[in-house]
Amino acid sequence: MKPLGPIPAGFAGRDGILAIDGIKVSELIAQVGATPLFVYSSAMIRQRIADLRAAMPAELALHYAVKANPFEPLLRLMAPLVDGFDIASGGELGMVRNAGIDPALVSFAGPGKRDIELQAAIAQQVTLNLESAAEAERALTIAERLGKTPRLAIRVNPDFDLKGSGMKMGGGAKPFGVDADKVPALARRIVESGAEWRGFHIFAGSQSLDAAAIVETQGQTLDLAARLADEAGVNLPHLNIGGGLGIPYFPGDVPLDLARIGDMLGERLAHRPKVLAQTQVCMEMGRYLVGEAGVYLTTILDRKESHGEIFLVTDGGLHHQLAASGNFGTVVRRNYPVAIASKFAAPVEEEASIVGCLCTPLDRLADKGGFPRAGVGDVVAVFCAGAYGATASPFAFLGQGVAREMLV
Ligand SMILES: *Cc1c(COP(=O)(O)O)cnc(C)c1O
Repeated sequence: MKPLGPIPAGFAGRDGILAIDGIKVSELIAQVGATPLFVYSSAMIRQRIADLRAAMPAELALHYAVKANPFEPLLRLMAPLVDGFDIASGGELGMVRNAGIDPALVSFAGPGKRDIELQAAIAQQVTLNLESAAEAERALTIAERLGKTPRLAIRVNPDFDLKGSGMKMGGGAKPFGVDADKVPALARRIVESGAEWRGFHIFAGSQSLDAAAIVETQGQTLDLAARLADEAGVNLPHLNIGGGLGIPYFPGDVPLDLARIGDMLGERLAHRPKVLAQTQVCMEMGRYLVGEAGVYLTTILDRKESHGEIFLVTDGGLHHQLAASGNFGTVVRRNYPVAIASKFAAPVEEEASIVGCLCTPLDRLADKGGFPRAGVGDVVAVFCAGAYGATASPFAFLGQGVAREMLV
């Protein structure tokens, strides 16, 4: 048997069935009519943000990275809970606007912004995190044409990365951000242009479960921001120090020690360099805020045996939950937390692989895990499905269509 990832704290059964915010998944499925279904728990998201606020220095602003999960009811839930939203496309700008979010609270990063996206962002007072000097010139030209003062920040490609992070976003040659040595000249150019100068965005990595590495990176980030601002001779109204906080997906993963990160960041901010004295510092996070609050539910359509191995074939799969299949940025496939939701209290009785309905061997949601005996009609829960699930998976593959989503 291969181990399964750890089920996030806070999930419990009722009458032997997995419940989310106290409601049995059988009732949730009946409400929407069918699986596959993503369910997101608003109580768990609220709790997560409250825990973060309690652990982090009071002055730290928290931003939500929309690409983790742009489901409109979830964006509406987030609006009063966070201080800002980070988007990465014009499409996401439309999504935050549809959710009623004030565009003045939005910042837009991402390489390859089209003119039409820059125009929409500038017209709506969205802060642009500029990815290159050429993009800065395009933004200034578009702003001039619109007769608007653009709100401009520079995304810095730092000379370091977040050690042990699942996805490296800085250090060396990267398509993201402006190399640190070119930043001071560009910052002066922006300030002299008469644009509203917003500061720096420095994002060094993602999905780290190593508190010491996060603390080290935050220190390096503050030092780099101060050095670049000094060199440029500009002030720094705002500094986005990135996020990088990971969640446990796999066997042996341990949740982060938030208190330690918060205490160390508090220390750093208390002794920050003079040039950062007036700077509003923020962290941006996606999966840490919503990842563990989401569950993907799928129903078993077939139970079969092949060469002595049991396969539970579901109506879901990698077209909704690519990451659980091991095909979204992981090197070695390991099992996500997966359970038989309709037999949540039952003991492990057999080894089985849970597969999706796509005709490809990649479509495996659990490989040789230990489960209670399950069959046709039983419901499978894949946990840690609140981020990079529905919108980060190839739903059009094999004509299977989208999953339903609901916020409880
Ligand atoms: C993807 C991304 C995030 C969110 O990363 P998580 O690991 O979900 O927290 C934050 N900032 C930027 C710039 C990103 O590209």
